[in-house]
Amino acid sequence: MDRRRALKLMISTVSIMVSPALMGINLNNNPMKKDSIDRVKSEGLKVNLGNISFYIFSDGYMSIDKPQPTFAPAISSSDFMVEIQKFHPTKKAIDLAINVMLIKVQEKIILIDAGMGNHFGENQGWLLNNIENAGISRESITDILITHAHRDHIGGLITNEGTIVYPNAKYHIAKEEYDFWMSDNPDFSNSKLTVEQRNTTINFTKKVLNRIKEKIVSFHPGETLFTVIQTELAAGHTPGHTIFTISSEGKSVKNIVDIFHAPLLISNPEWGIVFDVNFEQAIRTRKQVLEDCFKNKQLVMSSHLPWPGLGYIDKRDKYYWDPIYYYMPNEINLGSDIQN
Ligand SMILES: [Zn+2]
Repeated sequence: MDRRRALKLMISTVSIMVSPALMGINLNNNPMKKDSIDRVKSEGLKVNLGNISFYIFSDGYMSIDKPQPTFAPAISSSDFMVEIQKFHPTKKAIDLAINVMLIKVQEKIILIDAGMGNHFGENQGWLLNNIENAGISRESITDILITHAHRDHIGGLITNEGTIVYPNAKYHIAKEEYDFWMSDNPDFSNSKLTVEQRNTTINFTKKVLNRIKEKIVSFHPGETLFTVIQTELAAGHTPGHTIFTISSEGKSVKNIVDIFHAPLLISNPEWGIVFDVNFEQAIRTRKQVLEDCFKNKQLVMSSHLPWPGLGYIDKRDKYYWDPIYYYMPNEINLGSDIQN
């Protein structure tokens, strides 16, 4: 390569890779800095949908070392092992990604959930670092839509020491979700969690919601938020578990959040997961959403399916996950990918 071409290439590379420091973002300001962050230098993924874009960032992952009885608590272990071998023939653990969506609409920067934060271990809490790598400061986040108040969705709102991570954000949460967790005795009578697990969950969620409650605005699922986010109640996982659809120019993506946590539950929706507050209602909702997504050939995003959690629900004898393929590391252009 001659020098002039090399120089030209260098200049164009520099113009693309603007570092966060040049954009006035002080990475040392990250209140959730942890050693493991250096393992995942990511700038997230930009997805172009019609004339809007959204972004997907990773907060890390959760490993479920002994998948049963977290998954399929009422299924015989032999049936479970036969099925899990189809999905994970070489390993026994199930890893759940934590995929987080961010949308820029007009002057708003909207984060949808905030990941686990730095409360529970080294494999999560990477979200803020990854957002900052993409040139978005925590101070610039204007709104956070909380899909439901489980720790892997709200833990990242405050640090372990109780500092609010996104100081200028308003928090939007379904009224039924907020009321459930903030009641004196949230009803877990239809859950399969142990009493100890329930109490841990309730205490953590109350701690986070109490810390941010001055800036909480509740909404009713069914409302459209920020002109492009059509919300929908998908109760069962939690009473106010909210899924939503973003549409532009006839194209759409439906974020089904925690309707299923692994491909295993797409093929076996009735097997369930103990995190569901109402186990049976969650099964009915899961089946309904799967059928709707399959029938409508709906592009889906999932909080916990393998990165970046984008794909379709397809069906042979059972439903199965059909992940989308993409051809550039940092960007997806949804054109012919979307069938509806
Ligand atoms: Zn979750």
